[in-house]
Amino acid sequence: MIDVLGLRKVYRDRGREVTAVERVDLHVREGEIFGVLGQSGAGKSTLLRCVNLLERPTEGTVTVAGQELTALGEAQLRRARQRIGMVHQHFALLSSRTVAGNVAFPLEVMGTGRAERARRVTELLELVGLADKAKAHPAQLSGGQKQRVGIARALAGNPAVLLSDEATSALDPGTTQSILALLKRLNQELGLTILLITHEMNVVKSICDSAAIMRDGRIEESGTIPELLAKPGSRLAAELFPLPPAEPGDITITFTGQADEPVVSQVARTFDVDINILGGALEKVAGLSAGRLRLRLSGTQRAAALTHLAERGLLVEESR
Ligand code: ADP
Ligand code: MG
Repeated sequence: MIDVLGLRKVYRDRGREVTAVERVDLHVREGEIFGVLGQSGAGKSTLLRCVNLLERPTEGTVTVAGQELTALGEAQLRRARQRIGMVHQHFALLSSRTVAGNVAFPLEVMGTGRAERARRVTELLELVGLADKAKAHPAQLSGGQKQRVGIARALAGNPAVLLSDEATSALDPGTTQSILALLKRLNQELGLTILLITHEMNVVKSICDSAAIMRDGRIEESGTIPELLAKPGSRLAAELFPLPPAEPGDITITFTGQADEPVVSQVARTFDVDINILGGALEKVAGLSAGRLRLRLSGTQRAAALTHLAERGLLVEESR
């Protein structure tokens, strides 16, 4: 649904060149929620703004819903952008307009007739759970309600794709969860493809099907959540499941889905090894029970025990 190839973005800042995004490829499949995770300054916002060409890439191509945006002229691009919704961290609402007026705004720009506009605004406010706030002004709303208006407005053009730049970063944890639940529902009910960027692991953990980790303008890891967790040395796994520092010979096992089986006690019994559990973390991620355990194993059949764990589909890594 979104294909970014060889993307590079260089800003010119007072005569100095700043490379914000360097050789990035990104593939977001139709109907998925894809999260780009990274710290402040990693280039996430730049990447997102290049996806709808709010920023012109210095190099590379961007294709959304089969249309190569980087090949379009300004007029065609304006039309194509109507099919790409965008949600902002600080909501970007018009304070002089009511909630209904804010959601109506993009429809006015698109030239939607008055009656159709009214119908659509009502429908969108119902969709985000704000039907009773149509006449309120942004200043009268909580942060979560403001973001619901932002989301309704982003959906006005019936987009195939929703881009979200830190949509929950200005919200408290409880409100964050309710906005994430709303995004997930829109994804499922409307088949909406969502590309979101965030610096919060929690967002990826709650709703993403796939993710990429960005650092210094580059993508370090990218794939479905189970793929990422199962990759040796995965940074996503390390960040999702923090463990105490390892000593040489310590074993880290990562499981994605096999958490219901009593593998550790089985291995201890079958191979007559002593297992010391040094740390562990378990979470529900992308609908899977996933986690990591740090173990110290001793016994004559240690090697056979490790082979057995790997054969059970667990990722087994030994610290050096
Ligand atoms: P993130 O969203 O991950 O925090 P950004 O995409 O905002 O990262 O920024 C990436 C880098 O590009 C930073 O070094 C930032 O200072 C720089 N940058 C972003 N926007 C501009 C701009 N308009 N002009 C110059 N430099 C910019
Ligand atoms: Mg940003």
